[in-house]
Amino acid sequence: MLNQKATLESIKRKFDVQEIRKDFPILSVKVNGKPLVYIDNAATTQKPDVVIESMKYYYTHENANIHRGLYFLSEAATQSYETSRMKVKEFINAMSASEIIFVRGTTEAINLLSSSFCKSGMIKEGDEIIISYMEHHANIVPWQLVCERNKAKLRVIPISDEGELLLEEFEPMINEKTKIVSIVHTSNSLGTINPIKEIIKIAHRHGVPVMVDAAQAIQHTKIDVQELDCDFLAFSGHKIYGPTGIGVLYGKTEYMNMLPPYQGGGDMIRTVTFEKTTFDDLPNKFEAGTPNIAGGIGLGVALKYISSFNFDDIQNHEKKLLEYATQRMLEIDGLKIIGTAKNKTAVISFVIDGLHPYDIGTIVDNDGIAIRTGHHCTQPIMQRFNVSATARASFGIYNTLEEIDIFVESLRKAIKLFR
Ligand code: PMP
Repeated sequence: MLNQKATLESIKRKFDVQEIRKDFPILSVKVNGKPLVYIDNAATTQKPDVVIESMKYYYTHENANIHRGLYFLSEAATQSYETSRMKVKEFINAMSASEIIFVRGTTEAINLLSSSFCKSGMIKEGDEIIISYMEHHANIVPWQLVCERNKAKLRVIPISDEGELLLEEFEPMINEKTKIVSIVHTSNSLGTINPIKEIIKIAHRHGVPVMVDAAQAIQHTKIDVQELDCDFLAFSGHKIYGPTGIGVLYGKTEYMNMLPPYQGGGDMIRTVTFEKTTFDDLPNKFEAGTPNIAGGIGLGVALKYISSFNFDDIQNHEKKLLEYATQRMLEIDGLKIIGTAKNKTAVISFVIDGLHPYDIGTIVDNDGIAIRTGHHCTQPIMQRFNVSATARASFGIYNTLEEIDIFVESLRKAIKLFR
């Protein structure tokens, strides 16, 4: 079995971006004969060797189904998978590993929560659910479905022209009909970092639980669920240098015990007869069927990898990238940044006069540069800022200032070509 400790890294590594780049094999890939410049980290991050190897190790040395077998392989696989759950618990400082539910990703986490909330009878006709204008579709559509099913109402916290929440409008929206606030920690299309602790405090003052979408926060900042005092939190493994197809729903025990299961099947039951089924304890109650075992193991290794750095060093590096890229990009005539919040993560959405974002994406791809173009699954944001789409550059731990120079030169080339 892999030598995986239940605990995360406590001895921290020096933050050296050139050394970090060596951990990511894909960064030596050439695209169109040029070195890859990967700046689409808000969509997904690249994977370090240790994550890739851990999944290969599982398939070559431990592959078996978990929780069921009494034989060596099954016990080894179970131990590796459950060790990962412990790592997640430690990473976000949950009270207990049973509060960590493995899911496919943030989308499934929010669907699980909204669906169980809906079935629980906690949301009745006329009740209200509060989200914000800057939500990803994953934190809009599931709640909208709940509202349609239960005849409840979706209420939306507005934002300013800078892309900041109008917090003063939030508290007056809460009333005795408000059943949950589900809100993004950090916006994937604007980069805005929301004052999440304050939002939770306000909601709790009125006895309303809060779900935090941490898909764009978990890789950039230290998340401590007990310190935040959030009731639920979701994130995806693939955005924190881990595998796709695995993510986490954290939920306080008191709520998760109250909520009914999301899906039924094997591994989530205690007893089954044709008359009645009784359910297992947390977290099994919410994990029906064979899970993504390799993904779970890979996620644990990714969290251990990121824990080998000081979060302050990660933040300083990404702040430097954000500031430099913002300054260089604003030197370009006709380039406008959408999302100029004071507190921002290393995400830059932009438009350029006379160029369609898709043309920008295609031209920079010729130079080996990967950026995102489109609505970024935030169509209401596009409507709010009166654009159909934006181009978006988003940075991670392995990006460099030199890559930003290459990107800016490529943007200038695109402008020359299209204007
Ligand atoms: N919320 C936010 C803020 C996101 O950025 C994303 C991914 N772009 C999601 C939710 C959905 O994550 P996933 O597709 O991994 O389920």
